[in-house]
Amino acid sequence: MRNESYSILIPMTNIRLNGSSADTHATRSAGDDLPATLGGMPLLATTPDMRWPPTDAQTEQQLVELYRSQSWSFGGAHERAFCEEFASAHSAAHAVFMVNGTVTLEAILHALGIGEGDEVIVPALTWPATAMAVVYNRAVPVFVDIEPDTLCIDPEQVRQAITPRTRAIIPVHLYGGMADMDRLAAVAQPQQIALVEDCAHAHGGAWDGKGLGSIGIAGSFSFQQSKTMSAGEGGAVITNDAALAERLYRFKHIGYAPNTKQGQATGSLTPDLICHNYRATEFQAMILRQQLKHLNTLARRRDDNAMMLTEGLERIPGVRAQARGTKAGPQSYYCYMVTLDLEAWSNATCAQIRAALKKEGIPVAPTYGSVYRHPLWNLPASRYRIHGDRRDALGPVCPVAESIGTQRTLGVPHQVLDWSEENRMKLIAAFQKVHRHADRIAQIQLPA
Ligand SMILES: *Cc1c(COP(=O)(O)O)cnc(C)c1O
Repeated sequence: MRNESYSILIPMTNIRLNGSSADTHATRSAGDDLPATLGGMPLLATTPDMRWPPTDAQTEQQLVELYRSQSWSFGGAHERAFCEEFASAHSAAHAVFMVNGTVTLEAILHALGIGEGDEVIVPALTWPATAMAVVYNRAVPVFVDIEPDTLCIDPEQVRQAITPRTRAIIPVHLYGGMADMDRLAAVAQPQQIALVEDCAHAHGGAWDGKGLGSIGIAGSFSFQQSKTMSAGEGGAVITNDAALAERLYRFKHIGYAPNTKQGQATGSLTPDLICHNYRATEFQAMILRQQLKHLNTLARRRDDNAMMLTEGLERIPGVRAQARGTKAGPQSYYCYMVTLDLEAWSNATCAQIRAALKKEGIPVAPTYGSVYRHPLWNLPASRYRIHGDRRDALGPVCPVAESIGTQRTLGVPHQVLDWSEENRMKLIAAFQKVHRHADRIAQIQLPA
């Protein structure tokens, strides 16, 4: 299907796609092939545009109009429209807009009545916010290992980690990859445990034809600066449960019900809900409405381009792309990640390979490690539990998250999936070049 995509041959590399060799295509001299880190020419002399979030003249104009309107917050027209549009783009009935994608998780757990004495299962490999949201509710996060292929929480180990106190599971669709929602539902539903999807990396992704975030009881999204949809900051919860949506709205709006006027509280607020001001502004909602118009096209194009990268990269020994969701369509991306079998790379470290790729002009994405080892995770061991089958000084630890996390994965930010075909081919060529010289790259001393 995508064979014609590979007809572009890249000079000065031995990229072999469609069985052709670029060696016939360009004159090669010994120096041309050297990685930039060993004194050769970088494959991308200048890194293509990585600026993010996107900007456009129409949004700029609307921002000016919004500024002049002086209606900047408090359940405004843009917020209401955005919530409707965002929910429907993800197969959900309701969305609630908030200040970020951490309080959205906190809000879901609080609205579900989760608190002291409860346990919530989270993946060992994610951004700390997933687990902190549990701590904010005075519940105990229980870290469970990931699957080596999807990099998402392992449903079988989730099953083993469940106790009578388990109230929720928060699968994270990490980097855009997909936690197996069918297997997780099979584990959670019979025991009436809530599935809360952390979709901070998965805007526009769909599992089995349903928008991510709409499969569990609720889904949480972040619109922080680097995310695939961004308003600098922001977050949203989607759900199909109308009562939960109302509790979430009240939670973020000091207790006011939806559609009440400022200063005119109506309806009865249940005493179990402790509410906040977690409102975001009309400016953010307006920017996101513009981005949402293009989300599906963007996600589909990037998914296609990612599959093409995978076809090229997996021809290199010791490279496995993060498994695409088995029911993805499309899969959306926060980062495009690969896992390396370092023995096939002369036992170079991921850090050495990452540094060599950067010298080729390839932007490298940050990678997550185990949350419980994160420098910002400063909680005493009594505040969390690790369900792991290996032990070290910490007690049990999650071996897959430990060994794969920062040590064997590397990847590129989502913007790379918008690069021209020529540049995406150069990215594959850069991996090939670094791989061919892995023995020498393994000798390079990196600055501490
Ligand atoms: C970014 C992120 C969050 C939190 O979002 P913020 O808007 O930055 O608070 C939560 N979970 C994951 C997996 C994230 O990457």
